[in-house]
Amino acid sequence: MGGLHKFMNWERPILTDSGGFQVFSLSQLRKITEEGVRFASHVDGKRIFMGPEESMQIQSNLASTIAMAFDECIENPAPYKYVKESCDRTVRWLVRCKTELDRLNSLPETINKNQMLFGINQGGTYEDLRIEHMHKIAELDLAGYAIGGLAVGEETEEMYRIINAVEPHMPKGKPRYLMGVGTPCNILEAVHMGVDFFDCVMPSRNARHGNLFTWNGKMNLLNEKYAKDPRPFDENCGCPACRNYSRSYVRHLIKAKESLGMRLAVAHNLYFYNNLTREIRKALDGGYFESFYQKYRNILGERNPD
Ligand SMILES: [Zn+2]
Repeated sequence: MGGLHKFMNWERPILTDSGGFQVFSLSQLRKITEEGVRFASHVDGKRIFMGPEESMQIQSNLASTIAMAFDECIENPAPYKYVKESCDRTVRWLVRCKTELDRLNSLPETINKNQMLFGINQGGTYEDLRIEHMHKIAELDLAGYAIGGLAVGEETEEMYRIINAVEPHMPKGKPRYLMGVGTPCNILEAVHMGVDFFDCVMPSRNARHGNLFTWNGKMNLLNEKYAKDPRPFDENCGCPACRNYSRSYVRHLIKAKESLGMRLAVAHNLYFYNNLTREIRKALDGGYFESFYQKYRNILGERNPD
């Protein structure tokens, strides 16, 4: 169908993941070799093989703006020796990803010949392995670099410790991407540590369960106190839900399992995240990010008192 941009009628950037994380998080039956991973589909049990080349071919066919490297995403904590070997293999896989994507980008039939490759830093919760791995993948001079393998069950403080340790070793002047993160607070903290971009299911998934984010903190819409609350989620929000509907009504829809309730809540959270990141960029450009950070670092993670 001509690639994702055409298929979805979306002319802005699209990032595709490599499938690495998905193989490791969804599949019970998997076997890792130097070549790649053999696993059983979580949908129908079919045996599938995926290695760096297969992942790049799929992402090239999807024709996203940014393709992510195929890597092994390990659990935290994992034994030091295992993590070290896994990191070494991930570097070898990254070299294969780069070679394959360069080849695909040179083919006449390739849809997006300018597809970019981002490398992914791994190393579990070991600072020395993280730094060593970062140095090795930085040598490949890729378009951008991600920190992967975090937000997979470890404590938030543990995640911040690793970001702080590895960030100074990330190439200057290239985008830094923290994969799978996170709450508004996590995003603000990570930007403060030098991260540029993020992806997460949180705004949409939490919304579907009635958990909303606002500039005054978090709200659980299913709380009894909102049952007869005529106000919007957030008085200052311009999203379609806040402009037209009350907390009471959207709460009713969600409780009645009416899908419109979930849609309105998702619209609000996505609007909030877009606004949050826009305000962060404005604060950075305007030179007042530090005071913005100090003002919101606590508020955003607390319960909305209102
Ligand atoms: Zn709203």
